[in-house]
Amino acid sequence: MVISYKPANTEAHQTWPVRTAYKGRFAPSPTGPLHFGSLLAALASFLDARKNQGIWLVRMEDLDPPREIPGAADQILRTLEQFGLLWDQQVIYQSDRYQTYQAIIDQLLKAGHAYYCSCSRQMIAQRGGVYDGYCRSRQSHLHGITAIRLKTDNCAITFKDQIQGPQRQQLSPYCGDFVIRRKDKLYAYQLAVVCDDAAQGISHIVRGSDLLDSTPRQLYLQQLLGYQQPCYAHIPIMVNSQGQKLSKQTFATALDPLHPEKKLYQALKVLGQQPPTALQGAPIDNILDWAIENWSLGAVPSRLTVEQQEI
Ligand code: GLU
Repeated sequence: MVISYKPANTEAHQTWPVRTAYKGRFAPSPTGPLHFGSLLAALASFLDARKNQGIWLVRMEDLDPPREIPGAADQILRTLEQFGLLWDQQVIYQSDRYQTYQAIIDQLLKAGHAYYCSCSRQMIAQRGGVYDGYCRSRQSHLHGITAIRLKTDNCAITFKDQIQGPQRQQLSPYCGDFVIRRKDKLYAYQLAVVCDDAAQGISHIVRGSDLLDSTPRQLYLQQLLGYQQPCYAHIPIMVNSQGQKLSKQTFATALDPLHPEKKLYQALKVLGQQPPTALQGAPIDNILDWAIENWSLGAVPSRLTVEQQEI
């Protein structure tokens, strides 16, 4: 993979006094430039890490080339820097980690936790939409292109989200046996995110609530692989007036790097941090210093969404 943009020091932006085992991360997919919705996740995970004197990493989730925009990864990194969100250590690119993902899939196949599947979307939809394990017992009859799925069961996965509170999900009725490698041989997000969070020793995950219902799948995979489970905190996501998440598909506007102070201030308000009016228009370093000092995860609203009009 060619990385055309390298920050001045890819090892570490700054020497941060790390005193705890806290390791957080921001894991954007380079499907477009950062917008206000992604700034919320970046800022919340950054502030939580800094408040806890932890490490904050950036991981580029470039797993799905058909959905990616050339140059978006570099642009995201540049925007993070312009907003003062300076990460520690080297940025990891998921596109460099296919061998690791494959090794873990081989391990899951060998242990009988995963299996090949040739069902099309249409076949699954006709059988009710949630994957029913149809190919589990047909392994010797499969030919052609196959996906790889993880076996799930009816056990309830429970966890306490630090913002959204107690959560419970039964994987079989909710999503069924889920895909860990797609038919086009691309590795699935659920698998890669679990491998990388474990490989990087991530202890705290602060991200958008659109991933709340993915967390049980990730906890389940962590259990199967014997990985440590991080703490999770899911912040509200920004939606438009139709309730759709801000994204490239819903034409979210890219962050304007020329005026980071205004957006940082607004983001702090959305995150329930009540920045003082005097901070409005202050330089980004002042805003971030105040925000780190005063960061309270408990003040983040325990709602799944915030409408763009509300800010
Ligand atoms: N790459 C994912 C996204 O951009 C986020 C993954 C995560 O934070 O676990 O939506």
